Amino acid sequence: MLQSAKQVLHNFTAGPSILPKEVFEQASQAILDFNESGLSILEIGHRTTLFQPVMDEARSLVKELMQLGDDHEVLFLHGGASTQFMQVPMNLLNENGIAAYTETGTWANKAIKEGRLFGHVEIAGSAKETNYTSIPKNLSVSPTAAYLHITTNETIAGTQWHQIPYDCGVPLVADMSSDVLSRQLDFNKFDLIYAGAQKNMGAAGVNIVVVNKNILGKVSRAIPSILDYRNHIKEGSMMNTPPVFAVYVVMLTLRWLKQQGAVVAIEKINDTKAKLFYDTLDSLPVFTGPVAKEDRSKMNAVFVMQDAELEKEFLALCKTEGMVGVKGHRSVGGFRISMYNALSLESVKAITDLMKDFANKKG
Ligand SMILES: *Cc1c(COP(=O)(O)O)cnc(C)c1O
Repeated sequence: MLQSAKQVLHNFTAGPSILPKEVFEQASQAILDFNESGLSILEIGHRTTLFQPVMDEARSLVKELMQLGDDHEVLFLHGGASTQFMQVPMNLLNENGIAAYTETGTWANKAIKEGRLFGHVEIAGSAKETNYTSIPKNLSVSPTAAYLHITTNETIAGTQWHQIPYDCGVPLVADMSSDVLSRQLDFNKFDLIYAGAQKNMGAAGVNIVVVNKNILGKVSRAIPSILDYRNHIKEGSMMNTPPVFAVYVVMLTLRWLKQQGAVVAIEKINDTKAKLFYDTLDSLPVFTGPVAKEDRSKMNAVFVMQDAELEKEFLALCKTEGMVGVKGHRSVGGFRISMYNALSLESVKAITDLMKDFANKKG
């Protein structure tokens, strides 16, 4: 963050969101002079010997950090995670076929809506009845379904899958936009993972797609070339001009993650941050968390107050303390703080201290 006139000390924004300071510095330098080439990264060809190593390193870092086997390909594509809502069923779901989806909130519902354009969608489990404050537990998945889709972390509702349904019996597809590489998962057990980069791994403008190549080529529809995963695999994510700068920022962020000690290390820090936050929340009756305890997100914590006036007061206080991104999503209200990989424990400590002070004065 810049030391500007208006001091921002803690950035809890949900997305695009905080990245490591080193990444901002290195990305800035690359705009002025990329790798001492005398050229900006914004003015070099994507097929040059300057950029190709960036794409290669970004790809191999994803493979390494997720510990992926040879069947899994890593792609860098345009269009945000929202494009994947339709690209997934277009590539995997036949017109007369079934796809199973879990209905866990705003993002899952957007994926469901697009899925219905391509085939039959069955709801394998829903949290609608709890107003999306929980994660469905007993899923019912047709054995003939082309895949089961889950949203591993619902960014708006503040819920997260802590028990991944690896053994659902059909290919597993996940929208990991807001918790990708924040915790250790058995990434090889997912047949397709997609994530917009701008929450936990880079700048807006690119998503990563990790796909088990064995599930491709099974639908009968004609797929437009640019939307066919197989073409992007063949062309190494260079079928057309990739979002060069956004891929570079992902590469830098993944280098940083590796330096931190990779996913195993960041998960420990993320666990510590989440525990500090939720322990504090549970100790202060003036604040309430609507989400079922066992389904709370370690990335996006949602909380409210009973009194709207007090909410305003607390928000104003956050602002004077240099905290941004604390206001809840317009559909939920209250507050939401996002604790992505790059957010420090100090920032969580700062807001929990503020909550305690506030509760002491108002309680
Ligand atoms: C932000 C978000 C999206 C949408 O990402 P875009 O890149 O804006 O399309 C999808 N799914 C989840 C879980 C998100 O948090």
